[in-house]
Amino acid sequence: VGNVSELVARAAGSWPNSLALIDSGTDRRSTWAQADAAVNAEARRLLDAGLSRGDRVIVRLPTSTAFAVSLFGVVRAGGIAVPLSPQAPAAEVQPLVEHSGAKLVISHDPEAEELPEGVTALPPADATAAGEPVEPVGAGEDIAVVSYTSGTTGPPRGVMLSHRALLANIEQLSAVRPAVLQHSDRVFIAIPLFHVYGLGPGLLQAASVGATVVLSERFDARRALADCAEFRVTTIAGVPAMYAEFAALDADELGAGLATVRRMTSGAAPLHPKVLAAIRSATGMDVYEGYGLTEAAPVVTTTLVTGYPKPGSVGRPLPGIELRLVDSDGTAGPVLSDPDDFVDSFDEEDGGTGLVALRGANLFSGYWPDGAHGPDGEGWFRTGDVGYLDTDGDLHLVDRANDLIIVNGFNVYPNEVESVLTELPEVVEAAVVGVVDERSGEAVKAVVVVAPGASLSAQQVVDHCAGKLAGYKVPHSVEFAESLPHSATGKLRRLRLR
Ligand code: ATP
Repeated sequence: VGNVSELVARAAGSWPNSLALIDSGTDRRSTWAQADAAVNAEARRLLDAGLSRGDRVIVRLPTSTAFAVSLFGVVRAGGIAVPLSPQAPAAEVQPLVEHSGAKLVISHDPEAEELPEGVTALPPADATAAGEPVEPVGAGEDIAVVSYTSGTTGPPRGVMLSHRALLANIEQLSAVRPAVLQHSDRVFIAIPLFHVYGLGPGLLQAASVGATVVLSERFDARRALADCAEFRVTTIAGVPAMYAEFAALDADELGAGLATVRRMTSGAAPLHPKVLAAIRSATGMDVYEGYGLTEAAPVVTTTLVTGYPKPGSVGRPLPGIELRLVDSDGTAGPVLSDPDDFVDSFDEEDGGTGLVALRGANLFSGYWPDGAHGPDGEGWFRTGDVGYLDTDGDLHLVDRANDLIIVNGFNVYPNEVESVLTELPEVVEAAVVGVVDERSGEAVKAVVVVAPGASLSAQQVVDHCAGKLAGYKVPHSVEFAESLPHSATGKLRRLRLR
């Protein structure tokens, strides 16, 4: 397979009559043969609309069959798919239309799109259409997708993902044993397909084994349970915010709803051990946590590599990905690659935190449009994530380097303080940011969301933290809020909060 859309053609060849895609809201279903025929029709429609090789096409559709067909259609026709949130307001979409230089926008409401001159809006793909085969255009180093990062830390950047990178990550995932996903699986996806987490380990991985994907436009815990039961879902690819909602349900209800599920995975943000424990006690199942980023197309590590979940750890690199930690003076630690000798090659003396650096065929080709800031000459890419390796050699993420708060010269990572804050039973969610302070440079400020009906004072928050954290980490001020700002995958938008 050289072009990402060939995953669908191959599934259609191997398993033509197996169910490919189910839209849970409308119960519309297609087989892999039908999906492939619809992708051909979509590729033809785009070519007829004037698409040339390398043209950018914005795919702005909900998590649905139409999204999958349009995305594969763009890529089969030789275009570059630029997935964007269907909910994003025009003010957020317009700069990205301009930045990507898109020629076409596929939208559920093409009339409503406010587009610059020369850009055409098209309705979603017709998932029931059947087109004559279209020979896939582009492969290998050609760019298949430009994925704009969520912008949780700064202005969005267009990550250029080649066919090579996206397919490499699917291959790396498929090398994990026991298999992450099998042909007989039914995967539930309620995370956005416009984010590379839904796209890669969700849709593309399922296509690579001809599994069935159950697509839900939005996540609601009770509805998700009903969908899982109705469509006999076996695997859930989710984010911590989803599992937190599951964990808040009645244990019996949760256990019954997830009766057919055999594996749950979480990524994109830290999974709270409290949530992991609640789900385990209700269902007897663990949630396997992974770490990824758009630049890595996206999966880097997962606890599925060792096969045992470990609260607080994101596991080990997928086979084929090399990982090392780089400390603040730029010294690189040992390279860890083959999961089997991972433990041997880990030297406890080298412990301590560092920036996670990666090398592998799954890495991006730099940022749109000129490929700037991609992997270095030796193929290494330095992420913005600070982590450490425990004595087993499993990776723990401390926080993002950019979120570091420096109080009187001492480092405070928000995650650590936030974990202590959420230990309080009254606290639903908490976030910590640095604010300018004349005396200490920066000071820790906590923003806390309290459970409905519960009461908590700022002093109680401070007292709790003082018992658990070094003095400089204890919040200097506490503010109470109704809610905190989140991205589409449920990540805290710290910049906006600040
Ligand atoms: P931007 O770069 O625009 O701020 P973003 O970083 O949110 O957006 P993504 O590619 O969506 O862009 O997110 C990747 C980041 O998510 C990682 O670098 C890491 O900080 C965080 N992350 C992913 N998985 C986990 C996890 N299991 N635990 C903690 N953090 C995670």
